[in-house]
Order: sequence, then structure tokens, then C-alpha cells
Amino acid sequence: MLPVWQYRLCMKMDRQRTELRRQQALRRRAFPEATAAQWADWHWQLRHRVRTAEALDRMLDLSARERRALARPATWRMPLGITPYYLSLLAAEPPDGPLRRTMLPDLREAHMAPGERLDSLGEAAHQVAPGLVRSYPRKALLLAAGDCACFCRYCTRARTAGQPPPAPAEALAWLRRNPAIRDVLVSGGDPLTLGDARLESILKALRSIPHVELIRIGTKVPATLPQRITPALVRMLRKYRPLWLSLHFIHPAELTPQAAAACRRLLDAGLPLVNQTVLLRNVNDSLEVMVRLNEGLLQMGVKPYYLHQGDLASGTSHLRSTASTGRRILRKMCGLTTGYAVPLFMFDRPGGGGKVPLGPAGSP
Ligand SMILES: *Cc1c(COP(=O)(O)O)cnc(C)c1O
Repeated sequence: MLPVWQYRLCMKMDRQRTELRRQQALRRRAFPEATAAQWADWHWQLRHRVRTAEALDRMLDLSARERRALARPATWRMPLGITPYYLSLLAAEPPDGPLRRTMLPDLREAHMAPGERLDSLGEAAHQVAPGLVRSYPRKALLLAAGDCACFCRYCTRARTAGQPPPAPAEALAWLRRNPAIRDVLVSGGDPLTLGDARLESILKALRSIPHVELIRIGTKVPATLPQRITPALVRMLRKYRPLWLSLHFIHPAELTPQAAAACRRLLDAGLPLVNQTVLLRNVNDSLEVMVRLNEGLLQMGVKPYYLHQGDLASGTSHLRSTASTGRRILRKMCGLTTGYAVPLFMFDRPGGGGKVPLGPAGSP
């Protein structure tokens, strides 16, 4: 019999092989002309994003429900965009699977539920310069990119998804003039879809402002395009420490060997990683999935930070779970798993009221 540690190692290698085989199968079916080197190149991945219903229909086995929504782009709340890498995760799921729900359009996106708004967080009202949102006294949010590697159907900023961001000059000038701001969260869109030089010019400008103590980057790229986390990118990022990254993993199926390796490269460079997830109906709103997601993140060196109750963005009610479900899951997690694995449950109040904790603290 194998010792336990050898057995675990074999299991891990087996999982890695299975994952790679799965990606190869999708590559052969959907991108038969692509080489392994191209697949590993983030520029190739971005250029070959799946953007149309026709392409998706060729590449995935779709359910009737998925096909109906794909056939009616007029009902979509935002464009379709999926990297070939992430498509390989969708291909591994049955039709209507959890990750598919977050990436494929749904006919209910056209429906505005009571209380929903286009700008659910009132960011337009809190904009102090183009692309700079200040909703809190000492921290600000810089929308540095319009594009994302993949477009999540539950996006808060669907109204601007894929559009070019405003030039950052005015935002940077505002930050220089406002010494109250000690923390800047660089988000978008996804700032890691920018090229190294473009991103570095922003980080350098922020670092040159003496009162900006902390820089944070909000990104889903380690989940949707782990190939982007190149040694060159990491060498650049580490120059701007203290720099923290808020990642966005939502389901354990995203915790692949490539995603783990991307996180490892960032951690090795001294960049702390936290995760923000969203409570999504029929995607991750169960105890079993939340435990696997957050324990898996800890294994990868990522601290679960926030679990967001879905905000009231228009056309997202079919993906929104309930606050009581989130509370129940977190309460059960507290006794069951490592305390580090339990995120804070947050709700971003509509109209720019700011984030408030919904638990688990204090809930009996
Ligand atoms: C969420 C958010 C932040 C960062 O909030 P933390 O709770 O510190 O992570 C900053 N600015 C805006 C406008 C935000 O929505």
C-alpha cells in the first residue's frame, strides 16, 4: 500500500493530467489549428475569445435553453466573450452547468426586476473624475480598463463592459490633489487585460503619489486567463509593492493547475492574494460548493475576503441568491472548516450607500 502522502501526490498528478487532457480535447475540437504554444500565449487567448452564438454552438454541446438565449442577442445585457481556456471549463460541464450560467446569456437578462437599476451602485453620482469613483472617505476606485478576459453575465458594470476606459490623466490629477485618499483600488473592466507597459504607467503614477499607501488590483484574470500571469508581468508588479490583488474565483471548477500556478507566481513575488466571490443562484449557493471553493483557495494561498450578496444590477435576478441562504451557508462553515476559509458576507447598498456586512458575525 502507498503511504498517504504518496497517494495524495498521485491523485494530484492524476487530476492535473485529466485537466490537461480535457483542455487538449477542447483545443482539438474548437481550435484545431492552434498549437500548444499558442494556447499558452495570453495574446492568442484574448484574440480568439468566443464572441458569437454561432461559434459557441460549434464548440459546445448546448441545451435547448442555452441555444434559445444565444439566438436572441437583442435580449443580452452585455456582449458575449469567453477565452478558449475558460471555454474548456464550460465544455467539461453538462449543459446548464454552473460556470455556463455565469458566461452564457439567459433570456431573463432582458427583465428588469423590482429594485434593479442600470447603475446599481450609483457610481455615476460618486464619480469625482472620469473613471474615478469615491464612495468612501479614504479610498477610491480607479476604473482603468474597459475590457475583461471573459464577460460575467452578473456584471455590475455591464453598461460599460468592453468599452474603452477614460484616459487616467484627470483621475490621477484628482488623486494628487486629495491627500485623504490612502488606498486606490485599480479595477475596471479588468486591469490585467492591459499590456504591461500601459498598466505599469498607471501603477508608477499611483506610486509617485506620497499619500497613496496601498495599491490594490481587482482582477478575474487568474481564473479566466491564467496565461496572462507571465514572469515579466510579475517582475513589473512587484516593483509597486505594497500591492495586493483581489481575485474573483466563484466556483471550485475554476481552481485548475494553471490557475494555481498563476497564483503561485504572484505569491512568490510577495504579492498577497485575496478572493472576492459573489453568491450566485445554482452556481455556488450551497454549503458543499462554498466549502470546496474556499478550502481550495486556501490551498492555493488565497485568503477568502468577501462573499458578495448579488447587487441589484438590472437583468441579474435569475442569478441572485438570497441573503438568508448566504447567512445560513456561512454560519455552517464557521464550525466546519478553517476560520481563514470563511469570507465576510457583504452587500453593496443600491445608489452608492456603500458596503455593509450581512454576517456571519453576530448571527445566531
Ligand atoms: C468596494 C469598493 C472599494 C473597496 O472596498 P473595501 O471594502 O475596502 O475592499 C472602494 N471603493 C469603491 C467605490 C468600492 O465600491
